[in-house]
Amino acid sequence: MPEVPRKLPELEPLTAFFWTSGADGVLRIQRCGACGRWQHPPQPRCHVCHSEDVAPAPVSGRGTVKTFTINRQAWTPALQEPFVFAAIELAEQPELYVLSNVSGPVEAVHSGMPVQVFFERREDVWLPLFSAEASDA
Ligand SMILES: [Zn+2]
Repeated sequence: MPEVPRKLPELEPLTAFFWTSGADGVLRIQRCGACGRWQHPPQPRCHVCHSEDVAPAPVSGRGTVKTFTINRQAWTPALQEPFVFAAIELAEQPELYVLSNVSGPVEAVHSGMPVQVFFERREDVWLPLFSAEASDA
């Protein structure tokens, strides 16, 4: 049975920083202090060089939509549908993905779309969500 979207994640020691990072408006991803690689989801050691010197570090919060699905089923009455569930490739490193929702009109979402993180607080969790990056620069 599929897990209900937006169900609050468990705050476990290894992942708690990710779910609470938005408290100051900054997304953080685990980075290896030895080789500099980013990795997500968090793990006890670097998957490249196996160093245990891994710690959360701030990222830009920018990325691009790699792949996505449009969910048209209302899993809970409170859930607005349809919504987009996407793999966001973060700007910091190729193939560094965060799975999340993309807000806004579902018709506008496409592969390669530039997005920016924002946070939605639910109790002790700041859900990292994404929306179209402002293109007025
Ligand atoms: Zn490493």
